[in-house]
Amino acid sequence: MKKIFSLTRLLLIALCAFFALNMSAQEQKTYPTQAPMQPAMSEYWIPQPKIVTPGTATQNAFLSAPSDAIVLFDGKDLLEWESSKGGPAQWTVHDGVFTVNKKAGDIQTKRKFENYQLHIEWMIPTNISGKSQGRGNSGVFMQGMYEIQILDNYENETYVNGQAGSVYKQSPPLANAMRKPGEWNVYDIIYSAPVFKEDGTYRIPPTVTVIQNGVLLQNHTTILGTTEYIGFPKVKKHDAGPIVLQSHGDPSEPISFRNIWIREL
Ligand code: MG
Repeated sequence: MKKIFSLTRLLLIALCAFFALNMSAQEQKTYPTQAPMQPAMSEYWIPQPKIVTPGTATQNAFLSAPSDAIVLFDGKDLLEWESSKGGPAQWTVHDGVFTVNKKAGDIQTKRKFENYQLHIEWMIPTNISGKSQGRGNSGVFMQGMYEIQILDNYENETYVNGQAGSVYKQSPPLANAMRKPGEWNVYDIIYSAPVFKEDGTYRIPPTVTVIQNGVLLQNHTTILGTTEYIGFPKVKKHDAGPIVLQSHGDPSEPISFRNIWIREL
């Protein structure tokens, strides 16, 4: 009986030693570290979207807000807006438009939104300088998370998933429908907010349709996650959020906006 007991004990000790050795062997294993992502790793330049000349519009014949819209800017003031850093929006209102104040940073709506149709007009100044991403860069962020790029892509190429009308670093536009500097560009954006599961992942991802100057750029495009300059989009649970306008750090001349309204869906 004693012999059986000590045999069992020996067997247990051997098993423990085996697992201990195995574990320490696993602990000693090394794996290569992942290379850090660089911005260019998520940028691609071809194929360039075809250039489509949009229909003409007279300078002052813009589409005013329909009866059920919330007017976010009617040419007078920025009372619907605030600085993304907190406090009043410090961009410059003049002549019925407002112009980016790069020192003041991004601005955003005081109201928060989910699903909507947004109308927004923007103009690249005639004295614009710079190239690629450093030429009239701004952007409209839906729910403060997902950027539709604003950029001067009139005779200015850049990586296609970062050009005007792209879901930035995700989905290039179907066409390049830019008007030249000094003329107003119009975005009509139809956005559906995501629905989240309990675990914070998308049950239904956000989607966006973008029309620039009457030309379709994004056709009910699925947004993969947050806008990231470096690396892949992330899925982050969020509630209703503001519309954010970007003050980009490039040194080119600031762009202007006018006639902004939204219809909640
Ligand atoms: Mg931008």
